Amino acid sequence: MPPSFYTLIEMSFPEDRKRVAIEAPGRSVGRASWTFNELSSAVARAASLIAGLALKRGDRVAVQVEKSPEALFIYLACLRGGFVFLPMNTAYRMDEVDYLIGNAEPALIVCDPAREEETRHMAARHGAPHVLTLDAQGRGSFPEAAAKVRDAVPPVACASTDLAAILYTSGTTGKPKGAMLSHGNLAANGLALRDSWRFTADDLLLHALPIFHAHGLFVACHCALLSGARMIWLEKFDRAEVLSHLPRATVFMGVPTFYTRLLAGDDFNARNAAHMRLFTSGSAPLLAETFEEFKTRTGKAILERYGMTETGMNTSNPYDGERRAGTVGFPLPEVEVRVMSEEGHPLKQGEIGGLQVRGPNVFSGYWRMPEKTAEEFADGGWFKTGDVAMIDADGYVHLVGRAKDLIISGGFNVYPKEIETLIDEMPEVEESAIVGVPHKDFGEAGVAVVILRKGAALDEAALIARLKEKIANYKVPKRAFFVDVLPRNTMGKVQKNLLRDTYRDACA
Ligand code: AMP
Repeated sequence: MPPSFYTLIEMSFPEDRKRVAIEAPGRSVGRASWTFNELSSAVARAASLIAGLALKRGDRVAVQVEKSPEALFIYLACLRGGFVFLPMNTAYRMDEVDYLIGNAEPALIVCDPAREEETRHMAARHGAPHVLTLDAQGRGSFPEAAAKVRDAVPPVACASTDLAAILYTSGTTGKPKGAMLSHGNLAANGLALRDSWRFTADDLLLHALPIFHAHGLFVACHCALLSGARMIWLEKFDRAEVLSHLPRATVFMGVPTFYTRLLAGDDFNARNAAHMRLFTSGSAPLLAETFEEFKTRTGKAILERYGMTETGMNTSNPYDGERRAGTVGFPLPEVEVRVMSEEGHPLKQGEIGGLQVRGPNVFSGYWRMPEKTAEEFADGGWFKTGDVAMIDADGYVHLVGRAKDLIISGGFNVYPKEIETLIDEMPEVEESAIVGVPHKDFGEAGVAVVILRKGAALDEAALIARLKEKIANYKVPKRAFFVDVLPRNTMGKVQKNLLRDTYRDACA
């Protein structure tokens, strides 16, 4: 039997376990760095504490806390002890948490001390027996109790099919669904990324992503832990903080917004990025313009990759070889991708259709939603990503939009990305989003929501007239609105559902 995922992580630690694994420069009290030895015993104590609360293998541990090294140790403790980790977005309001707790029925909830009272009421309502606390500085009843643990229980040998985590999908498309990820899913994807992106124990990952999401928790942490690399652990993305640590780091992972923020001032340049060997981007589309500007400014090409909660990472631009702006690269080792027509036939290179993926990274289904799970899989274990894509003649995958975003106007399919790209190319435009809204004649019609560049002028009629010159009438949005900001979720994705609501009556 292969080693369980947590054993594999510990086996990947450097021979010299006195090397630093995590630095937390934001720490104002207590410990601010952990060696691999210290990380390992902190995880063992956390796992033993949870086991001591009589949680059994497979029981859920729901966590809604600020980012801290101790929060990462709770995740690792779940892997070590066979418990199922359930991270929750720190921005969730109590109602949203309530839904997840009711759905997942955790045996332990770890929350911020500021929310302890309301969390206890909610836990009682849902029959969750234990509530412990943890704050951003590593204080709270969880670490206090963990520090008192003397006899660490041995790691549990988890099989690759055992459930490791439930991550609720970001919900840009409806009620949150709990994606069930196994130890095998996480191990396969972590190893594929570590090797594809050439991680070694000499790396220093500057970690500024949230850890309630697959990007910061799995992609970033697994690459570092499975190679014995060091992490600089920032509580959040803070431009000045990132710039101050960048000269020492070798790898940085971001959502596109991180990169536009870095580029927003001249103090980000080739000099402070000189030591970096890799910048990666994902979770939302990286504009070609950002990619180019970054390259001009630093001489480095951002490596864009594509994945999702349900599958981990599926494709990546190459480490060696051309990183192409506007594409998400090639399938990762052992991952298969295909583009399918609406009737369920495989499409050829260059044709646009629904993207499906298959591989050891793909989740086993949505928690307690067998019907929804069955709907999302095609025969042969292919997962329907809901993304609309095209594979070009060189094999690069291009994301064209999300199936959910697809607008059907007068019976014709309109892919928002195509129109957004045309609008974004207009010199006056900073960024745009196209959403479908009800239309009395066509059923649905596209509406453009546009941010103009500072000082630029463009009106609705001119924008529409220009588009009419370039694309078929049915693709041209019926209305255009100009705004200062587009609503985004914490991962930087434009919340098209909110735009759909705002402009619902625009074409009625
Ligand atoms: P989440 O489950 O929150 O990670 O969201 C997954 C979705 O984010 C995918 O289905 C894509 O629609 C989108 N996404 C992830 N990476 C990229 C990327 N590099 N470019 C465009 N969209 C992306």
